[in-house]
Amino acid sequence: MNAITHLQNLIRLDTTNPPGNEILAATYLAEHLAAAGYEPVVLESGPGRGNVVTRYRGDGSARPLLLYNHLDVVPVEPEQWTHPPFGGEIHDGCVWGRGALDMKNVVTQQLMVMLRLAEHRPALRRDVIFAGCADEEVSGKMGLQFLVREHRQLIDAEIGLSESGATPIYAGEHVIYPIQVGEKGNCRLVLRAQAAPGHGASPDYTHFANRYLAIALERLTRQPLPTHFTPTVCNLLRQLAPLLGIAAERLLDPVHFDAILPAIPGEFLRQALLHTTRNSAAPTLLRAGAKINVVPSVAEASLDGRILPGFTAADLIAEVRAAIGDDLPVEILHLPEHDYPPLEAPSSGPVWEALARTLQAHDPRAIVAPNLLAGATDAKHLLPLHTQTFGFSPMHWGPDFQWRGLVHGHDERIPVTALDWGIDVLYDAVLALSR
Ligand SMILES: [Zn+2]
Repeated sequence: MNAITHLQNLIRLDTTNPPGNEILAATYLAEHLAAAGYEPVVLESGPGRGNVVTRYRGDGSARPLLLYNHLDVVPVEPEQWTHPPFGGEIHDGCVWGRGALDMKNVVTQQLMVMLRLAEHRPALRRDVIFAGCADEEVSGKMGLQFLVREHRQLIDAEIGLSESGATPIYAGEHVIYPIQVGEKGNCRLVLRAQAAPGHGASPDYTHFANRYLAIALERLTRQPLPTHFTPTVCNLLRQLAPLLGIAAERLLDPVHFDAILPAIPGEFLRQALLHTTRNSAAPTLLRAGAKINVVPSVAEASLDGRILPGFTAADLIAEVRAAIGDDLPVEILHLPEHDYPPLEAPSSGPVWEALARTLQAHDPRAIVAPNLLAGATDAKHLLPLHTQTFGFSPMHWGPDFQWRGLVHGHDERIPVTALDWGIDVLYDAVLALSR
């Protein structure tokens, strides 16, 4: 069966999370892996919450390589779609359906690589593990986090490859393939303003919790937090400087970076650079008051804080404090139970070089650059295993395919020609990392 047929079949299995029902996809994959001679195990973390794991055996002289993916997809508004979101139909040269880009395409590629390994039987130093996981789109608790906690020996690996990288970005005549080597961490904060309560008919605005919170938020959001360059972003900017026609020393100067940023071409690149060169603390939830005629004594804002690799919660708190000043009765509270640390794998050395060389062998124009993700993927759950994780899910499409709005959006689809090139690249990358 070819890759496109597998992708169509996987899209037709509705694994919308919630509730998930990933068992449909886990069973499908297990059947095809077993038919190729593997001994896959399907592990349910809850009713219908299927995960599937199997491995190709190397000689064991190096720790395994993990190909991991998620089987769940985000919900759809079917009436907004041109073609049925769980139809897997082919129109206009694309396979249409939820998961076509995030990430049943990558599930398919990783499956095809496992099937090709079973067919060609290469001698490898490491085992190659395939893990199809539930629940990435909600929390990963029923998926990769469950596997790490309960079945660690099945997925313990030195290197992990998954989504978010090795797809082309076109900048004029240049083709850039970013490989994700890290992501920002999570750090939830609360700003709490306190003042005297009172009657809504006779307010004392000089000492008023809502006003203090409003001033603090205005100061916090007046400008982005300070610029910092992590090793990944330094490597990325050094690669970009000649393409942008900007001297590397100017681009790598944190004092002037924010002034240069608006001149960098491409909205995607600009946004990515804005968010991966600083910590952030976005006020997302506001809470104050219970009754219209009562002046509340407490007003709170939850801050969705994200920290760069190399930074801690204390660093973010210090930056937020510097932005809001210390002349207001506003405390900064930290909710550490929701934290997870940032990740950053090296964008130099043998693993990086093997991935970059493989991409360049398949596309001689490729400029391979490391990338940090402002958001988060399942990679964070692999921290306890000390797995170096890379977003490496190679696809090929032309500059006309505008895919960014399609991920989690309406009319998600992928060109039928995108997958096969990437399967060859991924297979060669597995060999390069494992021989
Ligand atoms: Zn995804």
